Amino acid sequence: MTTESPYWNPRHETMARDKLEALQVRKLRNLIEWATAQVPYQAKRFSDAGVTAEQINSLDDLKRIPFMTRDEWMQGQLDHPPYGPILAAPEESAIRYHLTSGTTGKTPIRVLDSMKDWEWIAEMWCYGFWGFGVRPSDRVFFAFSYGTFVGFWGAHYACEKLGCLVLPGGNMTTEARVNQIMDMNATVVCSTPTYALRMAQEARSMGIDLANGPVERLILSGEPAGSIPATKKLIEEQWGAKAGDTAGMTELGTIMMFECDHQPGGAHIIEDHYIEEAIDPETGESVAYGEPGERVVTSFGRGFIPVFRYRTRDLVLKVPGSTCGCGRTFDIYEGGIRGRVDDMKLVRGTNVYPRAVEAIVREHEAIDEFQIHLYTADGIRDEIELLVEVPDANVDAGALCAELGKTLAEAHEGLRFHVKQVDNESLPRFELKAKRVLDEREIVGGQGERKQA
Ligand SMILES: [Zn+2]
Repeated sequence: MTTESPYWNPRHETMARDKLEALQVRKLRNLIEWATAQVPYQAKRFSDAGVTAEQINSLDDLKRIPFMTRDEWMQGQLDHPPYGPILAAPEESAIRYHLTSGTTGKTPIRVLDSMKDWEWIAEMWCYGFWGFGVRPSDRVFFAFSYGTFVGFWGAHYACEKLGCLVLPGGNMTTEARVNQIMDMNATVVCSTPTYALRMAQEARSMGIDLANGPVERLILSGEPAGSIPATKKLIEEQWGAKAGDTAGMTELGTIMMFECDHQPGGAHIIEDHYIEEAIDPETGESVAYGEPGERVVTSFGRGFIPVFRYRTRDLVLKVPGSTCGCGRTFDIYEGGIRGRVDDMKLVRGTNVYPRAVEAIVREHEAIDEFQIHLYTADGIRDEIELLVEVPDANVDAGALCAELGKTLAEAHEGLRFHVKQVDNESLPRFELKAKRVLDEREIVGGQGERKQA
């Protein structure tokens, strides 16, 4: 028997950087040619910017291409319903329709895919599954509602492509999902980080010891928390399994990054299929390795909607692939997706990042669920409170809240967090994209900016 490669695509995943960049440049030129020929809207953008495929000779030339924002995409959709002027193929050749989850409260983006898209979408997930050690003998449970949100749809097809046994867990209660995982001896579970913890809570209340159960790996997606060390550690302890982070987006249908089984505390970018830039969100200039920036995606794989320099609003910090010991040359987003560029809350002059708060809260295993609540006191003053559920009656919740309040204040220039215990199961639970920040301030940001309704 030949030795099995740890890489899904050994040639590309270990390619020297100069060769990888040459590959990206070639693919970029082809993509521009194709989009110019097929999409009048894109042709106009290129001609307005004075860019042709022939002028792209290095990755630096990428900067000649204008950014595309979500607002532009959305406006195009409103002006030219239902999809906007961005399709590169006739609608009749589409095989699937998906919709963004609309977490930002804006009009969701509608996306069409062809047969070619879905082959590619599955291929991208294969990089991640294989790289994290999933093999054909695995039984993979999907704690996922198979709906218009793209979520784990592509991962499902990737598992079929790998030859795993797929256990689809749509339209099931959490209890039924836990039972199925145990009954079917699932070795891999796919869910959001939040829902992985939710299932662990449910299992505990059912008297099931997940840590000694069949699950060996969790593939996490859909939220930034998969790379928050304290959250990940909690998930791994409660499941007795390794947890690997991935991240994707509906606009592109699939993942762009995955954590390998060396678990470098971040995710490798699938750079033979994407160009991922990190830029200063204010100036649009590239930032160096090790500096935080907004991620901008150019995708080579889409068969229906070419995407150039799409501003994701995701906060990332890029480091070279060589910082991981796995041998991949693909760069890494250290800490995965670190939140959204606009996630930060300004409270009485202090910056509060929900991710940083979560990292502190998750150090306390007794807390099952939490919420960050911002409100206006006495009609003028910003206040921040942290609501926590501490279901174990043997835990001194008062002492825990006091300690947590102290740690949070120390991490936030002395800002006082009112930490309060609330009734068990009183806070919202999430299967997808947890929303743990409730901002009910009358004036947001303390700079006279009225909150949008
Ligand atoms: Zn690695």
